[in-house]
Amino acid sequence: MGWNRKLLRVNLTAGTCTEEPLNMQWADDYLGSRGLATKYLVSEIDPKVDPLSPDNKMIMATGPLTGTMASTGGRYTVVTKGPLTGAIACSNSGGFFGAEMKFAGWDMVIFEGRAAKPVWLYIENDKAELRDAAGLWGKSCWETEEQIKEELQDPLVRISSIGKAGENQVLYACIVNDLHRAAGRSGVGAVMGSKNLKAVAIRGTKGVSGIKDFGAFLKATNDAKKVLADNAVTGQGLPKYGTQVLMNVINEIGALPTRNHRDVQFEDASKISAEAMHEKRESDGKTQLVTNAACFGCTIACGRISEIDKGHFTVKNSPKYWGASGGLEYEAAWALGAANGVGDLEALQYANLICNEQGMDPISFGATVGAAMELYELGILNDEKIGIPAPFGSAEALAKMVEMTALGEGFGKELGLGSKRLCEKYGRPELSMSVKGQEFPAYDSRGIQGMGLAYATSNRGACHLRGYTVASEVLGIPVKTDPLTTDGKPELVKAFQDATAVFDSAGICVFTSFAWTLADVQPQVAAACEGDWSMEKLNEVGERIWNMERMFNNAAGFTANDDNLPPRLTNEPAKTGPAKGLVNGLAKMLPEYYQVRGWTPGGEPTAETRARLGL
Ligand code: SF4
Repeated sequence: MGWNRKLLRVNLTAGTCTEEPLNMQWADDYLGSRGLATKYLVSEIDPKVDPLSPDNKMIMATGPLTGTMASTGGRYTVVTKGPLTGAIACSNSGGFFGAEMKFAGWDMVIFEGRAAKPVWLYIENDKAELRDAAGLWGKSCWETEEQIKEELQDPLVRISSIGKAGENQVLYACIVNDLHRAAGRSGVGAVMGSKNLKAVAIRGTKGVSGIKDFGAFLKATNDAKKVLADNAVTGQGLPKYGTQVLMNVINEIGALPTRNHRDVQFEDASKISAEAMHEKRESDGKTQLVTNAACFGCTIACGRISEIDKGHFTVKNSPKYWGASGGLEYEAAWALGAANGVGDLEALQYANLICNEQGMDPISFGATVGAAMELYELGILNDEKIGIPAPFGSAEALAKMVEMTALGEGFGKELGLGSKRLCEKYGRPELSMSVKGQEFPAYDSRGIQGMGLAYATSNRGACHLRGYTVASEVLGIPVKTDPLTTDGKPELVKAFQDATAVFDSAGICVFTSFAWTLADVQPQVAAACEGDWSMEKLNEVGERIWNMERMFNNAAGFTANDDNLPPRLTNEPAKTGPAKGLVNGLAKMLPEYYQVRGWTPGGEPTAETRARLGL
């Protein structure tokens, strides 16, 4: 069946944990994880609720393939209304936590209300209880994991927690599991902090049972693993270089946002690239990269485990950061590096470590630093206000700002609100490189036109994981399209958005889509889950999920006016590279996209579209 058919409802106000049957009709309509958890959320909260109030809910959910032998089947999702954007927030993570939830017998956990005092949730198979977190509050994610494992005397328990950033409600705080995996975007960690929930620890020993047709599932998952192994990206590029393999590629095509998107190419890109992580340092003769790593059940193993230079100014007096740890991935390396003009790889690694340790999204943090550095260069912010000189390229400023933000000190409190609020406060809202309040990831939409539309229409604010047209426009997956034209992009963006909703909802990693299409996912879902899971149905489920999220955002107050890009991207032409002279053609793409989607010119699903999708 793929599902455990039960969920846990945790009322933090009342201090109760209650078992409920999973709504199997909804599982059939929304598959699982992102789709199913969002269905629960939109059915249970007022779209206009304050995201940080007790009336918001937060759901941790698995998909039907989570915990199974499907490659990358270890994902879990956190769904809530996001504090950074005020829109739907859905953030997923790998590691081992999601599979453990499945092994304990639960499909999802719904958190509601707010605990009077800090608590943590312990789940051991069918048993669930809230415990006092007084001794954990104020600790980092890393300390929290260690302390809970010690208290339980169980090294195998899997833990998701917030650090100081979540406690302090940094609006892009994340939830960290397995030390360096995170539900990273949209501030889900701030919601967890607002509920006084420090951590969730799970131990499950039941395994996964009830696969509909085990023989067919074995064949489907083996066939699909072979596709991953035979593909150059998932079989060779990602295991060897990680997602960081993109740094030089994206710089080359003139789509690497640099210095708060002032430029589209970074002169020091090669110094912060995957190749640089493989090179021996002059200082100690060691490479930064120690090994690659895999999440539960993953046959790609794109994760990076690295060691920072012990003599670097950031850590020379802090031995606790000298060990091997997670990072750098491409998005983090870009946001902490090129976005700020910082070409010091060790400083990037340090900032990434602090983000993992205290639970912050390095994309939104790094991009917010980029905005602050531009305000500094314009003379709007100064040394006294920030606490350090902060021109573009300053590794010292990056290191200082990550510490201040993670710990909620000084100017870090303003950085913790994100670039939109920061730039509005200092009278230059147009300098926030964000959509719906969430900062861009690592692709400039002047050089990759489809990404401009994908960002503008992303339901959780600017994001590369909602419609990764880079795959087609840059890498030629599944077909090559021209990154410099808007032609055909509305259809392309819709197709990527709907398909990604299915990947996310199944409980697998979206990086499989470098090699897999939905046709590779369909036999796995069909063999695991009861019911008819044809290609036609999967396509419809993806589209239904996208429209459900959109309708929530519309009800929360978002309109077509919020499907926009900062003027820098639509008015200031790229200065160098293949896209030199181009701006993003959003104005042309957006009306076509609404038509392709079956939406009104105002950006709302028509009655006909809603009826077709059963919404
Ligand atoms: S591809 Fe990378 S992020 Fe995805 S599951 Fe595998 S190791 Fe984790």
